[in-house]
Amino acid sequence: MTSHPLTSNTGKPHIIVVGGGLAGLSAAVSSVDAGARVTLIEKRPRFGGATWSFDRNNLFFDSGQHVYLACCKGYQWFLDRIGTSHLAPLRGKLNLAVLDAATGKVSFLKRRDLKAPLHLADSILKYSHITAADKAKLGWAAIPLMRVDLNAKDLDAKTLGEFLKQHKQSDTAIANFWEIINLATTNVTADEVSLTVAAKVFKTLLTDQTAGDLGWSLVPLNDLHSKPALELLAHTGADIIKRTKVMSIVTNPNSLKASPTAASYSSPDNSRTVTGVITDGSELRADAVIIATDHIDAAELLPQNSGVNTDLIQKLQYSPIINVHLVFDKKVMPFELAAAVNSPAQFVFDTTQSSGLSPKDGQCLAISISAAEHQVGMSPKDLIDLYTKEIEKLFPKAKEAKITDAVVSRETRATMKITPGVNALRPTTQTGYRNLFLAGAWTATGWPITMESAVLSGLEASKSALHYLGFKKSSEQIGEGVLI
Ligand SMILES: Cc1cc2nc3c(=O)[nH]c(=O)nc-3n(C[C@H](O)[C@H](O)[C@H](O)COP(=O)(O)OP(=O)(O)OC[C@H]3O[C@@H](n4cnc5c(N)ncnc54)[C@H](O)[C@@H]3O)c2cc1C
Repeated sequence: MTSHPLTSNTGKPHIIVVGGGLAGLSAAVSSVDAGARVTLIEKRPRFGGATWSFDRNNLFFDSGQHVYLACCKGYQWFLDRIGTSHLAPLRGKLNLAVLDAATGKVSFLKRRDLKAPLHLADSILKYSHITAADKAKLGWAAIPLMRVDLNAKDLDAKTLGEFLKQHKQSDTAIANFWEIINLATTNVTADEVSLTVAAKVFKTLLTDQTAGDLGWSLVPLNDLHSKPALELLAHTGADIIKRTKVMSIVTNPNSLKASPTAASYSSPDNSRTVTGVITDGSELRADAVIIATDHIDAAELLPQNSGVNTDLIQKLQYSPIINVHLVFDKKVMPFELAAAVNSPAQFVFDTTQSSGLSPKDGQCLAISISAAEHQVGMSPKDLIDLYTKEIEKLFPKAKEAKITDAVVSRETRATMKITPGVNALRPTTQTGYRNLFLAGAWTATGWPITMESAVLSGLEASKSALHYLGFKKSSEQIGEGVLI
């Protein structure tokens, strides 16, 4: 085994970031911005983590359609910093078409320039997918959600579904109103999702007039995130290593003399530190290490006495997401984005522009299915057949169009599944080692497992590492995250 003391190359404090998803990329960018030397290590041949795209027959498809909300300030900071905000603009005031596959009716969830929660009142009054009686009862759940204390311990003990039922929401109101927002933001059904993370979403949307405005990419995700972020990092002299798996974290042998009790890691006298990482073949030394992987990979890497219950974390499940991409030879959907009720096709996006298809040659649609446990085992052919029929129900023009290409992307490990009890297990960035930090959308950011959570966690880990290394730069507040 060879050993590379990278610190000595520049004399700058050296941070190793393990994992090149949005958490790792934002931790790396924020660390080089402050003046640290950074080595970013990714096990795959590509960066971007869960946000990536592929090409097929001269068109580009995202592994999964990604959307952000206007309240996602950390993510928008990241796009700004890497110079791509113009490629994923907010699309104006929320105006979401919701189609009923059973009746063919269309309604809009639309916001007005009125103080929250009145910003949605008008469109809810006109919303045709729930009854007038159910509309009258929406406030019985919405008002407690607006007032909920997100730190209350009992929240994580129940599901959103239980809460909604306790607050007089009918099955139809849950399916045709609450679930539309819940599934898209938490990737777990209302019956299974921890109330803590769901309440975070609804409280934000109900109390902030512009929070629910949507933005998404005009270009493939590789061009939005990984390519520009890597260019920026390469420009600043960061070492970028791909196809290299970090196998373990090297602990300082003197650290082992420190008390291994669970309480000791929070002690300011704790002298436990790490000295770097072992990859397949090399030892790389660093002054601080940030693990920015998903929960299972992090649990495998965390050394003993990390202060994180890795046995429990390793048992936490994933929730899958499927995207079915259909290329039509003519335009079939009149909206940029639509949601569906009484249909397994939860959200449909017009991806013509990001795919690179000329509008005169047709329309490219991505059908996004969250919490897709029941469909993840279906064959691509069956998924394509099923969703072609659904699109024909929702947009009858599809019956007259020809499908020129179709492909399925399936992310079985899309997001950690936040069921009751799981939120409380999400660790903060600090570990039992003074210079080892955790990032990743799954860590304790308060948000569901999203791009926002990934970026905020990366910024927080970078801030902690820089603080440990003695960087004195003042911090700037970004939403609920802190940026150095
Ligand atoms: C299909 C799909 C649709 C989604 N839609 C949305 C959406 O609309 N809006 C939204 O906000 N979020 C969405 N998400 C969630 C969002 O993409 C993720 O929460 C976020 O990108 C996770 O980023 P991350 O950096 O925390 O983790 P990851 O993206 O998982 O990155 C971790 C990286 O670490 C690498 N790694 C792991 N172990 C090692 C090791 N030992 N050595 C080196 N490298 C290692 C992995 O290869 C990976 O690249 C979606 C996710 C999917 C899959």
